[in-house]
Amino acid sequence: MKVAIMGAGIGGLALAQGLRKAGVEVTVYERDPSPRYRKQGYRIHISPVGEEALAAMLPDAVRRRVIATATRPGDLVAGFDAQLNQQFEQLYPVSGPDAVTSVDRYAFRRALMTGLDDVLRFGKQFTSYAETADGVEIAFADGTSATADVLVGADGVGSRVRGQVVPSLDVVDIGVRCIYGKVPLTPAVREIAPESFLRGFCFVSDGSGLGAAFAPVVFREPPAEYGDYLMAVLTGTNAVLGVPDEKLFELPATELWALVARSVGEWHPAIRALVDVGEAEAAFPITLRTCITVPTWSSACVTLLGDAVHPMTPAAGAGANTALWDAARLTRALTSGEDLAAYQQEVVAKGQAIVTESLQNAERMFNVSIAA
Ligand SMILES: Cc1cc2nc3c(=O)[nH]c(=O)nc-3n(C[C@H](O)[C@H](O)[C@H](O)COP(=O)(O)OP(=O)(O)OC[C@H]3O[C@@H](n4cnc5c(N)ncnc54)[C@H](O)[C@@H]3O)c2cc1C
Repeated sequence: MKVAIMGAGIGGLALAQGLRKAGVEVTVYERDPSPRYRKQGYRIHISPVGEEALAAMLPDAVRRRVIATATRPGDLVAGFDAQLNQQFEQLYPVSGPDAVTSVDRYAFRRALMTGLDDVLRFGKQFTSYAETADGVEIAFADGTSATADVLVGADGVGSRVRGQVVPSLDVVDIGVRCIYGKVPLTPAVREIAPESFLRGFCFVSDGSGLGAAFAPVVFREPPAEYGDYLMAVLTGTNAVLGVPDEKLFELPATELWALVARSVGEWHPAIRALVDVGEAEAAFPITLRTCITVPTWSSACVTLLGDAVHPMTPAAGAGANTALWDAARLTRALTSGEDLAAYQQEVVAKGQAIVTESLQNAERMFNVSIAA
């Protein structure tokens, strides 16, 4: 069997590893010209669901690479008000020395690419497919084409594969914008940072809809490009941030970071001090989007995984973990000759439960109402 995966993101790469390990011929097509192309240096929480899926799919050498480049495990999720009075705290047991509880997205993707050089094609933007008597014919933006027995759309929230297989899906903008940033973890920053910020994921909310998340990325083995940092993310609607999208998405990184500094200007001095020493050039804005109802589709040789099928807000910390679960489930389906309809049924049911949880979390966390 020949499988073509569109998208070398988290789910697509993990699936490629799982299929290759089982001896299936696979090629991964990615629109970015190289793995370093975009700013992706932010932290992703890996849950036991994601860890289990990785263990099922990855060859041992790749799994060792993922563990080696992951962050040192954290065991805390906590909430604070703007003056750092703790509102809640939850502790999670760390399973052992090889536990992976969070990763840096860039380092994680690089680890997942281990050993895939000969099957990764960068600069290949999927545009359309046609089902044929023998399988699928795939067209790319550069005018080239490829064939496969099975096409997997692992091309993320704006999936063009989904656009063709289920054109009716609405992806909703929940109205919340995030400004992602990094505070390099120097000895001086470790002195300033509240202890909890160095231990796990902390969300600070001022009660007006303005929030900020902080979480440490302390590598076991850092990538060549950068070292340990504290992820710092400001969240709010355009109204709360005081900046419309036309301006927000045009602001240079340093001005975005100045906006973060202004927004937390009245907050606890430790938070202001952390923002003051942040890496202003690393700031970037994103829009939070979700589906409301996970779609179903009908094809014997085209399928979807991850954000392509169930885009969700990061408020449940589950998008990547669900993409990994999907990839492990699809590896099983494709290597056992199972009908793709059974895979689809489970992915839609599981995806829907998590999308709904993430919507409820987002409404609580960001103080917004998301129309169903
Ligand atoms: C800031 C942020 C923080 C997050 N934090 C967490 C977290 O803590 N825990 C968690 O579980 N999830 C988290 N998520 C969600 C998580 O990142 C996504 O759910 C996850 O990356 C989805 O994986 P995927 O493989 O489906 O898609 P992606 O990882 O988005 O990969 C899609 C890939 O497809 C490529 N592509 C797109 N279009 C095409 C095309 N036409 N042709 C070829 N290639 C294409 C893209 O370039 C990309 O490489 C977070 C998301 C964001 C934005």
